[in-house]
Order: sequence, then C-alpha cells, then structure tokens
Amino acid sequence: MGRFSKDRRDVYYRKAKEVGFRARSAFKLLQLDEVFDLFNGVTHVVDLCAAPGSWSQVLSRRVGRPRPTQDGGSAGAADGGALAAPGSPAAATTVAPDAPAPERRIVAVDLQEMEPVPGVASFQGDITRRETAERVVELLGGCKAQLVVSDGAPDVTGLHDLDEHVQSQLLLAALAITTHVLAPGGSFVAKVFRGRDTSLLFGQFRAFFREVVIAKPKSSRNSSIESFVVCRGYDPPAGYTASFDGALAAHAAGEGSAPEAAGDRAVVPFVACGDLSGLDSDASYPSELAGRAAAAADAAMAAVAAATGGGFAGTDPGLAVSKGSLAPVAPPIKPAYE
Ligand code: SAM
Repeated sequence: MGRFSKDRRDVYYRKAKEVGFRARSAFKLLQLDEVFDLFNGVTHVVDLCAAPGSWSQVLSRRVGRPRPTQDGGSAGAADGGALAAPGSPAAATTVAPDAPAPERRIVAVDLQEMEPVPGVASFQGDITRRETAERVVELLGGCKAQLVVSDGAPDVTGLHDLDEHVQSQLLLAALAITTHVLAPGGSFVAKVFRGRDTSLLFGQFRAFFREVVIAKPKSSRNSSIESFVVCRGYDPPAGYTASFDGALAAHAAGEGSAPEAAGDRAVVPFVACGDLSGLDSDASYPSELAGRAAAAADAAMAAVAAATGGGFAGTDPGLAVSKGSLAPVAPPIKPAYE
C-alpha cells in the first residue's frame, strides 16, 4: 500500500492497525455479527481464505465464549493481548484467546502462508482443491461446524465481469466445502461481488439454506462491489449427499466447481450493518479533522469493544487516529519485493 494512497487516512484501516487487527476486514465481520449474532452458541468454525488473519483474530476471541457484557466483563484480545493498550483497563481484564474455551475448534485456510493466530488451526491450501477440503474436514476432528465464513477474493483485475466470475467460482468452492462440514441449522457467511449473475448464486444458496440475506457492513466501502451473503439455517435439499466426487473432483479435472444442486434466480433482502457513528469508509479524513475522526472512531470502537469483549481501549488518547504512518500488524511473510 503506497504511503499516499487513500487507505492512509481510512479510519478503519488505521484503527485496525492501532488496535492490533491484521486487516480492516475484522470490522466487517464484527459489524455483520452486530446484526446477525453470528457467534451465538458457536464452538466450531471454518475460516476460508483467512490470510492475513483478522477474521481468525475475531473468531479466536469470540468463538466458544459467552457474549460479553456491556461493561466488558469477558474482555479478550485478538493476539494474546495485542489489542489492549498497556495500562488500560482493558489490559487488566484481558483473557488470552488460547485460554481454555469449552470444546471449541477454529480451522483456517488460505492460499497464502499466514502467521499463526492463537487458538486457530491454520494451513496453506487452495479452497477449490479437493485435498484442501479434506484437510478442513480432518482438522475439525470429526465434528461439524456451526459456522463457515469465507472472505475469499481473487486478485482483482478491474474487469468487473471477469472479477465477478472468478469470485463466484471461489464462492461455489466455499459452498461445496460448507456442504461437507456444516451442521444442520448452521450458518455460512461469504463475500460476494454483486453483478449480473448474483441472483443465480443466491438461488443456489437458497437451495441449501432457509434464510439468505445480502449485507453491506459500514466498513465495506460503498465504492466497492463487495457485499456479504449471510445464509442461515443450513438445510440441504432432500436426498442431497455431499460428495467430493462431485463439485470439487470436477474442478480438479478442470470442469469448474459448482455444487450439484442448483436453484433458480433469487432476489434476497439487503441489510446494511454497523452504526459506527457516521464513519465513512470511503471518506478521506484530512489531517486537521483527524482529531474529530479519532474521537468518533473511539466512541464507535468503545461500542464495538463492549459488544465483543473489550480490548480495544477505545477511549485511551494514545489510540487516537494518528497522523504518521503505522507499521503493519502482520507484515507479509514472503513479500514479493524482497
Ligand atoms: N478475511 C481475511 C482477513 O480478515 O485477514 C482477508 C481475506 S483477503 C480479502 C482474501 C484472501 O483470499 C487472500 O488472502 C487470498 O489469498 C485468499 N484466496 C483467494 N483465492 C483463494 C483460494 N482459491 N484458496 C484459498 N484462499 C484464497
């Protein structure tokens, strides 16, 4: 990311660095959870396309734990305390994410190598490959997941039709894995690029889930065609048997990767998520407004902290949106420029 790019002043981007998230995407998952209560009763989760790992960080602190109280009663930190400012009240109540949690398991996979996240079993793999799907199943240790999330995105070319097509292939691969690992009634959340054929995809999701909604978290830029499909109540078609000999095997033979059961086109409800005090992910906040932006961001983060278990220490002046550039939380493991 260039020093003078728009991201330099993106409130979520800066805030993610300040509180120890590896990517601003963490706020998207948190905002989706605000509306859909995704982690309620969840102990087993699969995080597809997980690198650099900010969703895994969120999962690490939220899965298998009670929803925190407004006073931050079960505060936690994403990386063993990395989110809490030293000396802040949150630091005193931090619970390490690898502290015992009742029978939980989080499995993460990505094409890229990923720094380990405490409490998360991660590995490198291509989700469109059968062997990756089999490894996910293996790492779940014979249990079903109640939630599968996929934030997968191919390298964007800027050609919308092509990007949308490649993204939909990734999405179908994620759905194919999901049909192997998701418990009945479970949820699936995945990034989609809205386009001409999105309604066809929604039709396919509708064939497998009782409820399908499209959601746009506030931290996802309006200028981006990205949204998230939130599918709840996993209920595959009668007689449907998940099989690696179908979609994933077909892909391995170069024939594409669609789950066997397809639905018609579907129009699904749209929900906006996250009331972060009007903070606009598309806005560039000039430095003279940085203080105001910081105050608004801190208030918003305090709300998120209350909802997620604290650890953001949002009111600590040391965490105000700073003017200088900040070091990445998780630098690339094998950067192309070295
Ligand atoms: N959720 C992540 C986080 O919070 O840190 C960010 C995910 S990033 C937007 C998209 C990821 O999709 C990239 O890390 C990329 O390597 C991964 N990806 C793309 N195609 C993939 C594939 N076929 N199999 C596995 N991962 C893939």
